[in-house]
Amino acid sequence: MTIINVLLPLAIADAYSYLLPDDLHAEIGDFVEVPLGSRKMIGVVWPDDGKKPPAKTVKLKTVIGVVEMKPLPLELIKFLNWVCDYYISPKGMGLRLVMNVPEAIGVVQNIDAVRMGTGEVERSTKARDQVLDICEGGETFRKSELAKQAGVSVAVVNGLLKMGALSMAQMPKFAKFKVPKTNHNLADLADDQHAAADTICQAVAVQKFETFLLDGVTGSGKTEVYFAAIAKAIEQGKQAVVLLPEIALTVDFLQRFENRFGVEPAPWHSGLAKGARERVWRAVASGEAKIVIGARSALFLPFDNLGLIVVDEEHDGAYKQDSGVMYHARDMAVVKANIGKFPLILASATPSLETYLNATSGRYTHLVLDKRHGGAKMPHVRSIDLREHQPESQKFLSEPLITAMKAKLAAGEQSLLFLNRRGYAPLTLCRACGHRIACPQCDAWLVEHRFNNRLMCHHCGISIVKPTKCTECEAEDKLVACGPGVERIFEEVELLFPEARIELLSSDIQMNVDEIQRRLNAIAAGECDIIIGTQMIAKGHHFPHLTLVGVVDADLGLENGDPRAAERTYQLLNQVAGRAGREQKQGMVLLQTYMPQSPVMRAMIAQDREAFYKAEAYGRELANLPPFGRLASIIVSSKEQKKAFAFARTMIEAAPKITGMVILGPAPAPMGFVRGRHRVRVLARAPKGFKMQDWLKSGMLSVKPSGDLKVQTDTDPYSFF
Ligand code: ADP
Ligand code: ZN
Repeated sequence: MTIINVLLPLAIADAYSYLLPDDLHAEIGDFVEVPLGSRKMIGVVWPDDGKKPPAKTVKLKTVIGVVEMKPLPLELIKFLNWVCDYYISPKGMGLRLVMNVPEAIGVVQNIDAVRMGTGEVERSTKARDQVLDICEGGETFRKSELAKQAGVSVAVVNGLLKMGALSMAQMPKFAKFKVPKTNHNLADLADDQHAAADTICQAVAVQKFETFLLDGVTGSGKTEVYFAAIAKAIEQGKQAVVLLPEIALTVDFLQRFENRFGVEPAPWHSGLAKGARERVWRAVASGEAKIVIGARSALFLPFDNLGLIVVDEEHDGAYKQDSGVMYHARDMAVVKANIGKFPLILASATPSLETYLNATSGRYTHLVLDKRHGGAKMPHVRSIDLREHQPESQKFLSEPLITAMKAKLAAGEQSLLFLNRRGYAPLTLCRACGHRIACPQCDAWLVEHRFNNRLMCHHCGISIVKPTKCTECEAEDKLVACGPGVERIFEEVELLFPEARIELLSSDIQMNVDEIQRRLNAIAAGECDIIIGTQMIAKGHHFPHLTLVGVVDADLGLENGDPRAAERTYQLLNQVAGRAGREQKQGMVLLQTYMPQSPVMRAMIAQDREAFYKAEAYGRELANLPPFGRLASIIVSSKEQKKAFAFARTMIEAAPKITGMVILGPAPAPMGFVRGRHRVRVLARAPKGFKMQDWLKSGMLSVKPSGDLKVQTDTDPYSFF
């Protein structure tokens, strides 16, 4: 008997010790079945971190069995340990990020199938012939699949089986992923694309760790550049993964990939069905799937032989996981590439300040594409000062914007109105008593959704039927909608342009993927004049007929206490602006704002990105905010606010005093009440380079919460709500 460490995918800090019987053999990374209390569970043999005291053999439980499958690669184990250490998460939660497809653990079973048999067909019919024709080549089929292909009922297949004309067989549960054809549909790269691709390909060829910032304006052809790098990785026998914000992971994008490489990539996102997840997980582990295109969690797939990571739209906030292990996939991609010794591409038209500074300081290799591909011009950007051009009462579009839209409509070109706010109105107010309808369990107003006649909380999701009288003073018909959401803009546009074809796209409008795709295709084909949309329309889409972008409220998001508010607003506005004039015709962007002099608006109008980054970097350095200082946010929550405050103070008292470390709070979090719990926040700010994790663990986090108290630590927080 030997003692081994086994990590279980649960919220536990470390691996447990188990006895391994002599007749079993298990190495680090192997999946093993072990007893846990009265249950059995599968975990992974984990390396000893050298910190644990030797276990006493007498009390140890014994490993039940070793699962017959490939062990987790050592690099992945190293990576998970790193991630959990950095985000101060239980290691078991890190393993859970990998073992989130339980069906994929263990040997894959074959499934029943049918193939051509040797028996005679008793009486030939058209239906029977159709089935047999398909089976002629000797292939195996699932019964239902065969029937479908032949256009007959399963009964026909069963009949042929009975007479022996077909026979039962076994076939693999999943279709294989085909090897991408690296030379399938090569783009003729422009000079700057070519130069960028060459530089990256050299690093891919020698498999060394290097981080590239592929910094190119919207439409400059960044995708084609990283496709070239992916092709190189495949030629080297390596796997590659492209990370995208979930919202940008569209059928369109996957199709574009397929056009280039002649095969489907392995997709990875929250919408995948169970079987599809298992198929991808296994194919990634075996090395059969060469290219994965996925959302942030694809970083935790068990790659057999990864040789390149691409993080597209690297600045996007969607890369930060906001529960469990609160990792930032872009930052962890850098760690993963460093551990695996291979290159990494961060692509963006508006890099995060962190990445931008790393690139300009030389830590990352900076590759710039400053022109749109094919000679399309960058759009002109103008602001509309809402103080001068006030929309009519209860309306939200100003006269100059309406005039521009009219001109586009007359010219047969498309306009897009962007407003990053779902629903009809963000607030409902009683004109009789002044009451504002708020969520009963959150610090948030209920948002009116007129299409389904409800008021909804965008934080916890509860909704109520829209009341006809005030919930406070019971006055009838005194409730008014305040402010606009996209539904309200839709209403305004319908009144203004009764003859126009209008499309409203918002993530909360109940549409399935096909329906969304159908609408996007219709827009691209020019079957619509005015598009109204939220963030979901801002990313990645190429609409050839779109020449005017109107931003209904460019200031939205600027004032919310988030240190990255300006940066985010700038990135979002740029992305939306990038939808205009992507082909021959000149694009125009109009920003409705009350603050035309703010650094964000000025940079947008002058299209002077460097000036914006400079101003932003200056402000953050003065305030010791990231990337010049480091932050950790500790949120203490409880049903009782007093208890949360008291506990937060106890935590702070336990923190070692160190010069340069600043503790802010405790204070009610900006969203101080969510889902019925009070939230109190402590922000710790450290100088750059200081290892905050040890300081937190030995201090604040050494005080353990009890009762209904909960503590959530967020290293490098992005969400400040
Ligand atoms: P970005 O990702 O930088 O916004 P894309 O890669 O989406 O830009 O390219 C913008 C458009 O230009 C796309 O329609 C793309 O197909 C086209 N394009 C880019 N590079 C080339 C090229 N070398 N040859 C032909 N078309 C290209
Ligand atoms: Zn709520």
